[in-house]
Amino acid sequence: MIVTLDKKQKIKESLKKTKEKRKNQIAKVYQLKISYSNLNKQQKQWLKRVFLEAKWLYNYVIADIPNRLNPQTEKAKQVEIKTPNGFEIREINCLSSQMKQGILDRIRKNLSDLSKAKQKGIKVGKLKFKSQVRSIPLKQNNITFKVLKNKNRIKLQRLKKPVRLLGLHQLPENSYIAKAELIKKPDGYYIYLTCYIDKEQIKQEKINKPIAIDFGIKHQLTLSNGIKINYFIEETKRLRKLQKKLSRQKKRSRNYQKTKEKIQREYQKIYNRRKDIQNKIISLLKKYKYVLIQDEQIKQWQRGLFGKQIQNTGIGGVISRLKQNLETLISVDRYEATTKICSRCGNKKEDIKLSDRTYKCEVCGLVIDRDLNSAINILKIGLEKVEETTIKNIGLDRPELTPVERKATARILGSNPYIRVSYASLKQEAPN
Ligand SMILES: [Zn+2]
Repeated sequence: MIVTLDKKQKIKESLKKTKEKRKNQIAKVYQLKISYSNLNKQQKQWLKRVFLEAKWLYNYVIADIPNRLNPQTEKAKQVEIKTPNGFEIREINCLSSQMKQGILDRIRKNLSDLSKAKQKGIKVGKLKFKSQVRSIPLKQNNITFKVLKNKNRIKLQRLKKPVRLLGLHQLPENSYIAKAELIKKPDGYYIYLTCYIDKEQIKQEKINKPIAIDFGIKHQLTLSNGIKINYFIEETKRLRKLQKKLSRQKKRSRNYQKTKEKIQREYQKIYNRRKDIQNKIISLLKKYKYVLIQDEQIKQWQRGLFGKQIQNTGIGGVISRLKQNLETLISVDRYEATTKICSRCGNKKEDIKLSDRTYKCEVCGLVIDRDLNSAINILKIGLEKVEETTIKNIGLDRPELTPVERKATARILGSNPYIRVSYASLKQEAPN
């Protein structure tokens, strides 16, 4: 008796503590895609099967709620389902008992929602059979699932090898993972991860300053704070090999089909890599109060010499995603001569060759990376459009890289092996 009281007391206390902690946190749900191209055969089969079993279990319980909605069912190794040929037995192998418990809890919740609605006088029916279950609750962190953040993977109960998860970098450093759901969508499988994040940390991670981007060929993105971002999305060697192979094979033969499928998978891989790179760059830029770009900078180039090169770098994708994602995106007129103007004194050069990687100002003596000079110019011109006066005076005469920015950049971009971050050189000589 004393023991149980003690235990109850402890649970009560820990609940109270959690409640206290949650006051200073906010819950956020992250939608993370399972990388299908990285799955092996067994994992693909498991994912397919686990949703089937969830449907069987759900319908099994719904068919006889008074007798089946109980902890006994959570242990069930098989269920009876109705088919056009009568009743059949189906094995439950992939669902763990916690997952089953989660599904049953959901039915309980639905029932209680129904009865609440009924009490309010709303006309309600019964729970219906499902032709498909699209979501499986994963209740306890570290039991039904375990996020392996450094490996970009998640371990799911009853599945031996962890699966690769895209977008885990979005999770802030000190986030507490509460629960998850396994989701099936037409375009693939997802994990919805519910996390608690300290309010204080979110505030710290917001960067209260504007940032301008210069898009280029040599360095794909140069930010006005001096950070240069390069990324590599090229056709892989494997893809070229496969294409060569395909050209030698007899059309519509079995092997031809097989090679074709392999090529499609390879394209998917490249596509995923590109998406992941774009996601990371965008989640970094989202931290800034304002993002400034020169409009149509890319379109001009696409028409010109560098069309092919630009296409391969996926810059166009980044820009259109920026336009969709950032509410505070400011674009500068494309006719502004951002490459010719000195970002310190405003002197305009007659011409600057594309091969000149450094901008040297004859008037004030500024020696600066060419792209960085442009980025700062875009920042200056763009900020004239901003009404907030406090933000206008930031980083205008020289690139400013704060520790917060440095940390955020390293955290977000550092986890992708195809992104390289470097810093633009800046030698500011004394004015003549
Ligand atoms: Zn100058």
